[in-house]
Parts: sequence; C-alpha cells; structure tokens
Amino acid sequence: MLMAEMTFEEVKVHLNHNRQLIVPVGTCEQHGPHLPLNNDILCAEILANKLSEKTGALVAPTINYGVNLPCDKFLADTTTISEITLRETVLSITSWWREQGFSQFFLLTYHGDPFHIKALSYLCKDIRLLEPYEIEYADILEKQATIKHACEAETSLALFLYPEKVRRERITESDIPFAVFEDYLFHKKTIPPARYTGNLGFPSAATAEKGEIIFERMMEKLLHDVSIPFEQHNGCR
Ligand SMILES: [Zn+2]
Repeated sequence: MLMAEMTFEEVKVHLNHNRQLIVPVGTCEQHGPHLPLNNDILCAEILANKLSEKTGALVAPTINYGVNLPCDKFLADTTTISEITLRETVLSITSWWREQGFSQFFLLTYHGDPFHIKALSYLCKDIRLLEPYEIEYADILEKQATIKHACEAETSLALFLYPEKVRRERITESDIPFAVFEDYLFHKKTIPPARYTGNLGFPSAATAEKGEIIFERMMEKLLHDVSIPFEQHNGCR
C-alpha cells in the first residue's frame, strides 16, 4: 500500500490498525552497461511493496538519492549526496510522521555502499535499517559466492523483477578481485580501477530462475527482520 497514493484521511484511518512505515531508500548509481541507473531504486521499491502486502505496513515515497563510490563519478548518470544529508533527510521526514502516529520505521535499501549504510544505521530506537541483500548466495550462484555490483546476483534479480529493462547484449565481464576493489569500496581511491566497466562479478551467468530464488530468500530475511522486537534492536544516535 503506497502512502503516496492515499489521502491524509485514509492514512489516518490506516494508523488505527497499523503504525509501521516502510521507507525505500534508493540511490542514483550506474549499474554497468546492461542495467539502468535506477536498479537499486526499483529493487528497493518492489521489495518494499511485497513486504507491505505481507505485513500491512504502508510504503512511504522513496528517497531516490544515496551515498555512492567516488570512482563512479566518471560514469555519466551516477551522483551522490553526503552521509550527513542522507541522515538528516531520514531524521527530518520521520520526525513529522512520528508526530502523526507512525511508531516504527523500516528503511529498506538495496544499496550496500559502506558509507550509505553507515548513514542509515542507528539513527533512532524506532528506526530500523533493512538490508535484504545480506543473504546466502553460494548455493544459488555458479560463478560467485557473494553479491557484488551489477553481477551474477544483481543481474539475476533484475532479470526476474524487470527483464524488459535489462540490456542482455551489453553484458560484459570485468571482475576485479575484492582485495583490489576494497580501496575503491571504502572511498580511499577515486580514479576508476583499470579495466573497470562499471560492474563486477559475472553477470553473464545470470538467470531469472536464480533471481526468483534470491528474491524469495530476501523476502524471508525481510519478514524475519521486521518481526524482531524493537526494544532489542538498534540504539539511538
Ligand atoms: Zn546495485
């Protein structure tokens, strides 16, 4: 259920029986030559909508911008906001919703940049970060054991969720070992690595079938994570 499509009177009635709000947090980040800029936005929104169906929680309008790798500045379309801007945005928008009666906030992001995650972590005791991609992949994927960027896992999920937007003919392999990419991931290096085409891992091994298994496993994780009592989770910043 999308809050954006409801009136304030309808939201007020909804608050009588459910006070949870899911806030999808996307980012504007290139996803190689084969996936669109809004991959992480689309995935967060689809997962949020499914979670809403299962829990009855409303879905807030998406935060479309997030914190990105400096080395992606050289690939047209990616942009970033600072950690402080992201954190303040979340604190601002939730403060009014809290006064209106929402009592539990779930920030659902599909973007794992460590500084993006840091900005969304431990904001307040009633705000919980959900990271659906933190699941086991080794038994699903053929060429990778973990999720990378626009890789076998991300491309599989895209093929399952929105195949019409995937440019299969543009898929390239340019895997860069983690030990080499780590400095880029932690924003220590800003010039793109050699042979970097915007994606990591092995997207040519992606299939919609793998994507379906990944999606179901992510939903299981989300349902588990929203069910943890709030008192035992998160601190206050
Ligand atoms: Zn992504």
